[in-house]
Amino acid sequence: MNILADVFAIEEEIIAWRRHIHAHPELGYAEFQTAEFVAGKLGEWGLEVHAGVGGTSVVGVLHGASAGRSVALRADMDALPVTEETGLSFASQNPGCMHACGHDGHTAMLLGAAKVLAAKQSEIAGTVKFLFQSAEECSPRGGAIPLIEAGALDNPKVDYIFALHLWPEVPFGKVGVKAGPLMSASDRIQVHVTGRGGHGAAPHQTVDAVVVASHIVTALQAIVSRQMDPLEPVVVTIGRFIAGQRHNVIAPTAYLDGTVRTQNEVVRQSLPHKISQLVEGIAAGFGASASVDYEFGYPTLHNHPEGARMVVEATDLALGEGNVVTLERPSMGGEDFAYYLDHAVGAMFWLGCKGPGASEFPVHNSRFDFDEQALSRGTAVMAEVALQALRK
Ligand SMILES: [Zn+2]
Ligand SMILES: [Zn+2]
Repeated sequence: MNILADVFAIEEEIIAWRRHIHAHPELGYAEFQTAEFVAGKLGEWGLEVHAGVGGTSVVGVLHGASAGRSVALRADMDALPVTEETGLSFASQNPGCMHACGHDGHTAMLLGAAKVLAAKQSEIAGTVKFLFQSAEECSPRGGAIPLIEAGALDNPKVDYIFALHLWPEVPFGKVGVKAGPLMSASDRIQVHVTGRGGHGAAPHQTVDAVVVASHIVTALQAIVSRQMDPLEPVVVTIGRFIAGQRHNVIAPTAYLDGTVRTQNEVVRQSLPHKISQLVEGIAAGFGASASVDYEFGYPTLHNHPEGARMVVEATDLALGEGNVVTLERPSMGGEDFAYYLDHAVGAMFWLGCKGPGASEFPVHNSRFDFDEQALSRGTAVMAEVALQALRK
């Protein structure tokens, strides 16, 4: 029987789980209720359950009836510090916290895949691990590394690993995938500028940290436009600029907090030096001083060609041919699923989620929502890709 039929039989449950998780969002490393909910379901279906793995992550293990390979499927469980404005009947009951990146859907779909595959236990040769990961949004220190360090990919060693992300820009219900880079390296820069404060009417007696930091913000864009190969994607964004106390006091210090996105590791490694040189040089030119903390976050997510092919095959089998979109371009977003692909062959794919029942708003927006009809499709592809991997 086609896996989609198995999934359709539990579609209402998957939607109900998604709504429950959506109504009770929790921030990264604090997914206590979500983890308990997930662990409870996995236990109900007879899986071996490991809770509190590397923090709040949950691992479910489905031992097949006979020996074989090991495949892992991963979902992220964390929400964002966003105040929900969707007006949905199942909107967040946790003020200031919202599933604005679709991780509620990812968790529900992985639960669905676990339930469908658990029912096939007698036909399965090998092991399927279901990784419900905490804190994907907590770059540069997300939940993937603690989960890997806790041994989630060992005993038995995972041969293949897959994950999906709901994606409004992919045609609805279709699977978007590509070999090679899919998501970007995401690093953090923090700049501390030190000048000399004083009276707002006497700038000549001061070193104005606001003016120095403003020049730095502007000049950082010249790194992208003047120091980088124009054919290499680089983004430098300063998201926070903090300085000053009063309108008529020249600020003695300023603080900038930003993110740097790249796809090429050589380019990435060149940036800490280039940014420090520019920042320190500009500060010195104004008689101020400045320092840069450059923190490497998630690396570029490289899908293995074989993993991407397996997603295509599984989608053809689960949803029928014509449901795969070969992506031409990666995203500058980051994903700590990248780390798993250093340990096992696999791929992340995107699932088109902006159907007739979805909002117009992008992920991380306070009005983001997706069409729940995507859930059964994603669940089916996840379950099918695991079955295919075990047959390799
Ligand atoms: Zn996100
Ligand atoms: Zn996300």
